[in-house]
Amino acid sequence: TRVLLTGGSGFIAAHTLDILLKRGHSVVTTVRTQAKADKIKAAYKSFADKGLLDFAIVPDIAQSDAFDQAVVSDPPFEVVLHTASPFHFNVTNVQKDLLDPAIIGTTGILKSIKESAPSVKRVVITSSFAAMFNAAKGLWPEHTYSEVDWNPITMDQAEENAMMGYRASKTFAEKAAWDFVEKEKPNFTISTINPPMVFGPIIHNLDTLDNINTSNQRLVWAAQGKFKDEIPPTGVYIWVDVRDVAEAHVNAFEKPDAAGKRFFTVAGYFTNRELTKIISKYFPQYKDLPSDSTPGGDYPEGGRNAVYKFSNKQSIDVLGLKYKTLEECVVDSIKSFQAVGL
Ligand code: NDP
Repeated sequence: TRVLLTGGSGFIAAHTLDILLKRGHSVVTTVRTQAKADKIKAAYKSFADKGLLDFAIVPDIAQSDAFDQAVVSDPPFEVVLHTASPFHFNVTNVQKDLLDPAIIGTTGILKSIKESAPSVKRVVITSSFAAMFNAAKGLWPEHTYSEVDWNPITMDQAEENAMMGYRASKTFAEKAAWDFVEKEKPNFTISTINPPMVFGPIIHNLDTLDNINTSNQRLVWAAQGKFKDEIPPTGVYIWVDVRDVAEAHVNAFEKPDAAGKRFFTVAGYFTNRELTKIISKYFPQYKDLPSDSTPGGDYPEGGRNAVYKFSNKQSIDVLGLKYKTLEECVVDSIKSFQAVGL
């Protein structure tokens, strides 16, 4: 299948690209600069040489015409995977740094596809648990989160801080995508992938661990000894391995039943304390990890039962996912960070 993948330099997109190429798909991926394209090309030289991997430069997805040229190709695209969206809390302006690239990026690419790429039949969009999570309900232990849930966040709340801004960016971007399909009745169907905290090995050519992607930061920081005296609060208590999230993106267009559905891709529960314990067990060379007496990083009072429940049934039944374990994920993650100097 001929596939356009946006944001190919990203943590999740790099794994998605890997699966696409290994399954024989022909891929064009968008990146912001030629330098980023060159790095990916070097890692997949044999695919690029055979014409199975090419690049389009899209410097800023917040421009509504950003994808006008990228969606056009010969042979034409049949599938688009839209993963590019800012995920960091290093923002000065929530609207400009988070909301615009997420929302305009999503509506912009759907418009470009409708106008200029009529051969596209499926679009898979990376959304998030952030688009489902209802912060006002707190830990909501009696609730089971699933694909029916929507974050009720408002535009005013989005401006409160970077965390709220990020959650709003994912919520409004995903809503805009479903609204687009309903109103515009394009030639394609969409699916969304909604992961919670994504951990896993990095394969996206990172120069330095200082630039580690947001969701892996806590694993790097724990191994670096930053949690030695106190483990920070876990925040979101559910996680998934990046390799499973990547597979979800690919299966979502390979499987016809996935059309028109959201997928809540969750492997299980975790706490920051559990992460540090797994690192201590397998990597005794990191001496500054927390001990059993270090405060913080636990479940709330009442343990796991005091936290919301989740249903990942649709992702297993329709996408056929088999989720990796937390131990496997953390061990493989740390090994990949060691290659970048951990
Ligand atoms: P990364 O930061 O590694 O990837 C983000 C990607 O988006 C990068 O390729 C980045 O390009 C690109 N991007 C961001 N802003 C722009 C912009 N204005 N113009 C062009 N490209 C842009 O993070 P992840 O891989 O984790 O995130 C990928 C997707 O997964 C996002 O949609 C995120 O919201 C979603 N997600 C991630 C979760 C996680 O825990 N990691 C959980 C749930 C959802 P560049 O590298 O050049 O900056």
